[in-house]
Amino acid sequence: MKKNILISGGGIAGLTAAKLLYAQGHHVTVIDKAACFSKAGFLLSLKSFGVSIIDELGLRKKLLEQSSPSEYVSFWEANDQLIQHISYEKISQNTERSVLISRGGLHHVLYEDIKNKIAVRFNTTISGLVRNQETTLVSLSSGEALAADLVIIAEGLRSPTRQQYFKDCKTEDFNMLYMGGKLTLRHDFTVGSFKIYIDVHKMLSIYPIAADEIAIQCYIHHEGDLPVRSMNAAELLKRSFTGYNKQVQDLLRRFAADGLMFVDKMGMVNSPDLVNGPLVLLGDAGYCPTALSGMGASLSIYGAKALAHFIGKTPEDLLSACNNYNTLMQPIIQKFQGNARKNAASFIPDTAERLDQFVGSFRAASDTQLQQIMTDPILLTQDQLSFATT
Ligand SMILES: Cc1cc2nc3c(=O)[nH]c(=O)nc-3n(C[C@H](O)[C@H](O)[C@H](O)COP(=O)(O)OP(=O)(O)OC[C@H]3O[C@@H](n4cnc5c(N)ncnc54)[C@H](O)[C@@H]3O)c2cc1C
Repeated sequence: MKKNILISGGGIAGLTAAKLLYAQGHHVTVIDKAACFSKAGFLLSLKSFGVSIIDELGLRKKLLEQSSPSEYVSFWEANDQLIQHISYEKISQNTERSVLISRGGLHHVLYEDIKNKIAVRFNTTISGLVRNQETTLVSLSSGEALAADLVIIAEGLRSPTRQQYFKDCKTEDFNMLYMGGKLTLRHDFTVGSFKIYIDVHKMLSIYPIAADEIAIQCYIHHEGDLPVRSMNAAELLKRSFTGYNKQVQDLLRRFAADGLMFVDKMGMVNSPDLVNGPLVLLGDAGYCPTALSGMGASLSIYGAKALAHFIGKTPEDLLSACNNYNTLMQPIIQKFQGNARKNAASFIPDTAERLDQFVGSFRAASDTQLQQIMTDPILLTQDQLSFATT
């Protein structure tokens, strides 16, 4: 039977869920607080099952058209000593090859696909909820009220609706500032070759997408609140990478001045239960694994597919559907969040001693060990891929 489903947040998770639930015949409404969709952000790596799901959605061709070339990734010390040089082709020999795509590019593919079927109401947020026996009456910031059988909260890491209605949820602060984005600039870096600097309390990734476009991402240890971008980002970038070679310093100066940048503090969302009555958390809003897991986008797409799968099985019992989704997701979330914590400790060491240890063992790793390090953390079991819950 057709249900009224409200999705708050039209990001990667929200739009994937919208597409799948619309295809099941439900009446889907998407709202988003943004005035329009932004192209800001760095590259996301869509991994293994994330790529397969995009394929099932019929969007692989469009995804590949928007993707960026990825041939090699090399890790460096601040003094320009090479730690490792890895070929993407070699490490993905036995798995679905990851696709590198800008966050804006992936979002664009999803939005273009649904925009003529499902309208997104911009500048709109949830301002209140009243639960009745049958439905939930949702008041919107636009002044309207909507009756919904299910409200999917897909508002990203800082979701205010989660904060209001899921009191047991916690956001783990990594004391790490994230800055990621793109810059239009002619440069001398090799297109398709990822360059990552590892250092104490910071990490910098430089990714040349094209001869005149370059993506940059960095993590910098930062305690306290999120600094206001326009005031502090340039200063922080300059201060954090003094001593690096001139090419890097010039690049960061240009990035701070002209780049299309996304800035946030790294946070990991721990939700003991993704369901509260007719409300269900999806994507970063419910289980942000942080960018350091490398799985945020894939996991949000997988979560959307899992939720739609269970809704499709028991459309008359949405609560059971959401509970099954929660049961399936919890161990998966633990796995990817655990990996992200490990990555944080390895790739952003907090002392010079830990940096030396990591550099030494990573440099000495064999091809087989490297393949394991790079691919083990991105896979799901067959049961998880087929949504089996026990
Ligand atoms: C502009 C932007 C740039 C990003 N850049 C990067 C990046 O460089 N690197 C990285 O790893 N991750 C980035 N992310 C996060 C990344 O997209 C997610 O980690 C991942 O794809 C999971 O997606 P999501 O749909 O759960 O959350 P998100 O992609 O964060 O989407 C959440 C959506 O909800 C909307 N929203 C927020 N609050 C409300 C509200 N109260 N009511 C209604 N709507 C609301 C937002 O406008 C957004 O469209 C970015 C997110 C955004 C929005």
